[in-house]
Amino acid sequence: MMQRTYRAYTLNNFNEIEQFSAVADVDREAVETIGRVFPFKTNNYVTEELIDWENAPSDPLFTLHFPRREMLLPDQYETIRQLIQSGADKSVIDEKVEEIRLSFNPNPSGQVHNVPDWDGMKLDGLQHKYRETVLFFPKQGQTCHAYCTFCFRWPQFSKLTSLSDSKFSMTQDYEIYMDYLKSKPDVTDILFTGGDPLTMSTSILNSYVDRLLEEDMNQIKTIRFGTKSLAHWPYRFTTDKDADDIIKLFERIADAGKHVAVMAHFNHPKELSTPVVEEAIARILNTGAQIRTQSPVLNHINNDPAVWSQMWRRQVDLGCIPYYMFVARDTGAKHFFELPLAECHRIFQKAYQGVSGICRTVRGPSMSSHPGKIQILGVTDEPGEKAFVLRFIQGRNPDWVARPFFAKFDSDATWIDQLKPAFGKKEFFFESELENYLNP
Ligand SMILES: *Cc1c(COP(=O)(O)O)cnc(C)c1O
Ligand code: SF4
Repeated sequence: MMQRTYRAYTLNNFNEIEQFSAVADVDREAVETIGRVFPFKTNNYVTEELIDWENAPSDPLFTLHFPRREMLLPDQYETIRQLIQSGADKSVIDEKVEEIRLSFNPNPSGQVHNVPDWDGMKLDGLQHKYRETVLFFPKQGQTCHAYCTFCFRWPQFSKLTSLSDSKFSMTQDYEIYMDYLKSKPDVTDILFTGGDPLTMSTSILNSYVDRLLEEDMNQIKTIRFGTKSLAHWPYRFTTDKDADDIIKLFERIADAGKHVAVMAHFNHPKELSTPVVEEAIARILNTGAQIRTQSPVLNHINNDPAVWSQMWRRQVDLGCIPYYMFVARDTGAKHFFELPLAECHRIFQKAYQGVSGICRTVRGPSMSSHPGKIQILGVTDEPGEKAFVLRFIQGRNPDWVARPFFAKFDSDATWIDQLKPAFGKKEFFFESELENYLNP
């Protein structure tokens, strides 16, 4: 079994990446400058196995991990660059950095509205938006083996104080969360998320999970783990020191009669190409767990139908189930990664047409927005006005799900809030009700 010792690269030591020094075109200054604003961390598996350095900086795996100049607006870039160059005080730089971060919408899609009030307190490490599924943010799992440049949870990893409201982390007594679940008998799914909850040691993970396997938590039928470890550090499941323990944990959940779902985040087929990821997937599937895959569609990374059909095909060959294609959320360096909704749909449609029915378990492109997960089903000219056909895959109100609705076609729009209802309607069918959810 191929073994590798984890080595993180951050702003402090990225100069030690051998390949980086060997590539003339890569932009050291961009890493130093943008790495101040957005979290930057990668590791030796990514640099040695995934990135094609011959094609850096435009290589998609390079772009996924390393800051590029265009990820800040030109004047922001210039401001930070000059402050660093002039040797400005850390506090002066931090102040500017904070201002820029706040301009990048650190709390997209109203996630703070998903944090429930319970017994007079805010449950700070929990989000409950859709009836059946509760998200857990264990405090030890709020990091990743590497950070994605497009990350929509980037404030989770940023140290500055004014972003602390945008952080989710379970700090209260675990029993309080259990009491909350018992008060909501419709909740059947727990989704551990982060960050990447599988960066936690298995012993800590065990203590979170074991409680859910007890008799009084019978309502919980599915335990999901949202993770990018298969893409960023598959050794988590093969040769790391507690790799065998996490495999046993999945077995234990399955043996307890619950469904184990690894919600794996893959952005590009390259991440599925190494022997170690194959082995990691095989080990997980061998426990009885299932692996469902998801990714946003991103400019400069995977904005090509062939990349998607190849990725879905490969996932199915390895035994994974394609699950979601997302539209990039309105946060962080979105100006660099975003694609018009019409283009997202074109990519999805073309890719979907190119694979067999076995791969068509995937749904998308989907916007995780305030009201819910909204899928772009297509574009129609049929009734005399060009329109997007949309529907909810998930809704704050479950009654909204699977009801088609229409928005005026707009070739530039990149998010639901830029769309207007079609056919002379004043508002979308869910809008007045949504108000009530947000301002009860
Ligand atoms: C996507 C998502 C879920 C899970 O939805 P499924 O369609 O069941 O996978 C749960 N909560 C939130 C906030 C989500 O965004
Ligand atoms: S793995 Fe997920 S949470 Fe971590 S940096 Fe990437 S997108 Fe963000």
